[in-house]
Amino acid sequence: MAVLFLDLDNFKIINDSLGHGVGDAVLDHAGQRLVRATPPNGLVGRLGGDEFVVLVNDESDHHALAERCTRLLDALTEPIRMQGRALHVNGSIGIVVALPGDDRSGEDLLRDADVAMYQAKTRGGGRHAFFDVVLRKRVQRHMDLEQDLRHAAGRNQLWVAYQPVADLRTDRTVAAEGLLRWRHPVHGPISPAEFIPVAEESNLINSIGAHMLRSATRELATERERHRLDLTLNANLSPRQLDDPRLPSLVQHALADSGLPAHALCLEITEEAIMHDPAAAARVLETLRELGVSLAIDDFGTGYSSLAQLRRLPLDTLKIDRSFITDLSDSEELQVIVTSIITMAHAIGLDVVAEGVETAQQLDFLRDIGCDHVQGYYLSKPVSLDELLTSALRLPTG
Ligand code: C2E
Ligand code: CA
Ligand code: CA
Repeated sequence: MAVLFLDLDNFKIINDSLGHGVGDAVLDHAGQRLVRATPPNGLVGRLGGDEFVVLVNDESDHHALAERCTRLLDALTEPIRMQGRALHVNGSIGIVVALPGDDRSGEDLLRDADVAMYQAKTRGGGRHAFFDVVLRKRVQRHMDLEQDLRHAAGRNQLWVAYQPVADLRTDRTVAAEGLLRWRHPVHGPISPAEFIPVAEESNLINSIGAHMLRSATRELATERERHRLDLTLNANLSPRQLDDPRLPSLVQHALADSGLPAHALCLEITEEAIMHDPAAAARVLETLRELGVSLAIDDFGTGYSSLAQLRRLPLDTLKIDRSFITDLSDSEELQVIVTSIITMAHAIGLDVVAEGVETAQQLDFLRDIGCDHVQGYYLSKPVSLDELLTSALRLPTG
């Protein structure tokens, strides 16, 4: 049999702009058209929202299935006449073929078909995609990592790398951003860009985030004492952590247990985390601020927040995303944008860190336009805390 997982493209736009009544009617039409385009040995169902599933019995040939998808999408794209307008809907289809002996459960098949559907969407929508070897490997790795991640902290596979942040007035390192690292016993080092999303999807992020915060505060507090250093710890918080009511007490305990003063901790939060519920985020940030820690907005410029919205939040620092810095030297447009961000951030009382500084040229420009802090490979890659402390904690002279 084959499972065809169909999701309407851009249905949300119809719902949001024309109302749910029209949205319901469109779903009704779409369902009837799918039924009409499906032969008697097939079965059409609606899973929920704008997701439909078409089951096709006794068919495993890819060409035949591809043709069937074309027919389904052709039926779907006929304009729907409603309230004197012609509405156009399209869809994306993910296909899974199950041959006799396949040991996947129905749920597994739907999951794989959903993965393939998502692939069809990323290729532009209005098309189909098969669940193939590449997707299978991706899903398998994802599931393996999720399993292994449960034990990673307990088995000492997680450690924190630190990347210095330098103050452009003094040219000294004033902070270190803690960045999580995973030494996997089989797969070797795995990037947080891969495993943090896995942790976020599987509810592991809260325990991993807590582990990270406790380790990093302990390590930094120890070295601050030993070397009599005034070094701030920057730690990343994921959106899910911000929603966790235990977050303030976690932060409080990490500080108390490690002896790190609250003013030496800065929590980095992305725009995304704040924007999905700004009012709730504001309350959590206020609570954290009351503990005495400072707060930074991370990856600024990649989301949809405006400085006008950020102004209402209790923030101390704005970190300009690396994508604005990478081509800074070649783009006058970027230079104007970065200069404006800094001016506006200063106007609402925020300190600015430029991320991803890789060249002396970028650094000089940032210094000229009054940027407060810099971070990036030009100063240092993320390294172990020992390495960070043996480096001179000063900017390279270039
Ligand atoms: P981020 O918070 O934006 O961290 C900065 C990332 O940019 C780091 O990647 C760092 O290695 C990289 N980077 C720094 N300077 C440069 C540069 O000059 N050039 C280039 N090309 N890259 C530079 P990393 O360590 O792979 O971390 C990736 C992301 O993973 C982080 O992005 C952060 O979003 C997430 N992450 C890491 N550790 C944690 C954690 O403990 N908790 C949470 N929630 N997220 C974390
Ligand atoms: Ca960060
Ligand atoms: Ca960042």
